[in-house]
Amino acid sequence: MSGAPAAKPWIKDLAPYVPGRAHVDGLARPVKLSSNESTFGASPKAIEAMHRAEADVMRYPDAGSSELREAIAEVHSLDADKIICGAGSDDILTLLIHAYAGPGDDVIHSRYGFMVYPIQAKAVGATSVAVPNKDWAADVDGILAAVTERTKLVFVDNPNNPTGAYLPYSEIERLHAGLPSHVLLCVDAAYAECVTADDYEAGERLVERSENVIMSRTFSKMYGLAGLRVGWAYGPPAVIDILNRIRMPFNVCLPGQPAAIAAVKDQAFLAQGMAFNAEWRSWLTAELMALGLEVVPSQTNFVLIGFPDGPKFNAEAANEYLTRHGYLLRWLPGQGLAGHLRLSVGTPEQNRTVITLIKRFMDGEE
Ligand code: PMP
Repeated sequence: MSGAPAAKPWIKDLAPYVPGRAHVDGLARPVKLSSNESTFGASPKAIEAMHRAEADVMRYPDAGSSELREAIAEVHSLDADKIICGAGSDDILTLLIHAYAGPGDDVIHSRYGFMVYPIQAKAVGATSVAVPNKDWAADVDGILAAVTERTKLVFVDNPNNPTGAYLPYSEIERLHAGLPSHVLLCVDAAYAECVTADDYEAGERLVERSENVIMSRTFSKMYGLAGLRVGWAYGPPAVIDILNRIRMPFNVCLPGQPAAIAAVKDQAFLAQGMAFNAEWRSWLTAELMALGLEVVPSQTNFVLIGFPDGPKFNAEAANEYLTRHGYLLRWLPGQGLAGHLRLSVGTPEQNRTVITLIKRFMDGEE
């Protein structure tokens, strides 16, 4: 036998994940509002806990993230044995796909949705089935119509990234009720802590009463710990057992565990961050709408802005203008959203400046 090492044939056509831009040539410190990070930051207690862990970094972390699972369970009134932690929720979403799907299987998600689902589905040789969104959120009827014998997993990012739209809990229940029992439903609630809508629930209750629902959560958004990579999921014991068999043994880093424990226990700080986010999300939405732009009603820490289609004031030109002025938003032509920019909630000063810049752009300034 001769020749170069060959990866699985389906890997080479896979377009890798494109993160939000953080750097631009010629700009010393651009303002990054492209990755839905928290500009409110992390609880000071979490930062202290992270520093206290410094002395032990020659050690491996707790392989089972036991204290972290206990802390999450206590705060959310859940069963710690049904929790798994990961290096961000990306880790857990990826594990789910690797455990439950392969060549010949379908993985269903929304057309506008989190890119990790199609990327990882393709990584395992499964088919990613993109169902068009309805009012920017997941379309329950569309998803149910797409389910076949081949379907192994359905992902619903609720609220949705990159649109910011959400489904009320009753719709998630209706989706679950319509799924055959062989299909595993993953409710990806990465933005759960941003939601202010009364009819929303992240999914714990549905997990409690079913064998085929898992809910994923993260410390990357409202807890402000994206750089530490800590996420978790709550699911039926049989599913958690499967994921534990294939996860990396020490998947949550040593400083990440105590930091996340302190963060989840500091619900007072979380509440402040949530109030900050809700206030500025409303403010950004109102200001953008006053400029005549379309804004998708958001339940997250970002807003999706629709620009006119014209030759001059379109999303690509706005993106270029904002970048030139040091503001990095997310333009997503690769996801079929060439007419939109996604803007994460920033600091008050960043929010005011980005609105001023967008106004100047719409006024035709160069
Ligand atoms: N799900 C959704 C919908 C997201 O937007 C993100 C982050 N962009 C994630 C999951 C993954 O976040 P993390 O791995 O940082 O937990």
